[in-house]
Amino acid sequence: MTVTGEALVAGVMGWPVAHSRSPRLHGFWLRAYGVDGAYVPLAVPPDGFERALRALPALGFRGCNVTLPHKERALALADAADAAARRIGAANTVVVGADGALEVSNTDAFGFMENLRQRAPGWPAARPAAVLGAGGAGRAVVVALLDAGAPEVRLANRTAGRARDLAGEFGGRVLPVAWNEREDALDGAGLVVNATRLGMAGQPPLDLSLDPLPRDAAVCDLVYAPLETGLLRRAAARRLDAVDGLGMLLHQARPGFAAWFGREPEVTAALRAHVAEGL
Ligand code: NAP
Repeated sequence: MTVTGEALVAGVMGWPVAHSRSPRLHGFWLRAYGVDGAYVPLAVPPDGFERALRALPALGFRGCNVTLPHKERALALADAADAAARRIGAANTVVVGADGALEVSNTDAFGFMENLRQRAPGWPAARPAAVLGAGGAGRAVVVALLDAGAPEVRLANRTAGRARDLAGEFGGRVLPVAWNEREDALDGAGLVVNATRLGMAGQPPLDLSLDPLPRDAAVCDLVYAPLETGLLRRAAARRLDAVDGLGMLLHQARPGFAAWFGREPEVTAALRAHVAEGL
């Protein structure tokens, strides 16, 4: 599909941004649906972020994604924010409203849950869930699990205060767990989620025995580079449902694409294979 002078335009602002898979992802959908549109990487350093964000309406952009390190600033600078962004404390999607207003949302919790339901439909949701990591991704996962009705979310984070703060903010169903007692959080759990950086290429592996986990539990790693982490290999070896991080990335992109380009996109095996290339 040729991009014409009337193309709908969106992109992703980050610093750095070259590693982002989003242009590849949205590019696939634009071609698949024959949309006259473009989705471009926007390398914006922190000191230029406010100017760049406020320039979107004047440039005719439909909106953009925002990634590290801009997610919190995007929420602070927005004219309007959805409930998920406010609860998570960060935004990843910006839509330019008809009047030029900047409307932000956070679609990470949505993406996480859509992916979990698609990849591990038998996941025992009525049991406690264990979450490792209380950074931005960890917050999104906690919000998603609370909204899905998890009876208890056991939250372990290397810096204990962050898990305690989050538990204080979200109330009684979130229980902080000491980092060195993280394996105890797996006892009787229906799900364990790695929302730390551990296991990413260039980072140390996540040291976590899955032995305390019941046989029907699911294991989800938000890391997607590499696609198959040591944690997921150990889960597969125990015949547990093993869910990688790529699906969350694909599903979180759906609401933005729909808002900017006017089509509800689908997450298919072909999309997954295209975005996973080289991971
Ligand atoms: P973040 O806000 O910087 O948080 C990083 C988290 O990792 C914190 O909980 C941090 O603990 C923990 N951590 C870092 N190094 C550690 C170590 N050596 N030992 C123990 N814990 C360590 O990052 P984020 O945005 O939440 O991202 C976290 C992970 O999720 C990354 O791997 C990212 O790629 C992934 N992610 C995936 C998706 C997706 O769509 N699949 C979306 C967002 C994020 P402290 O608080 O103690 O520093």
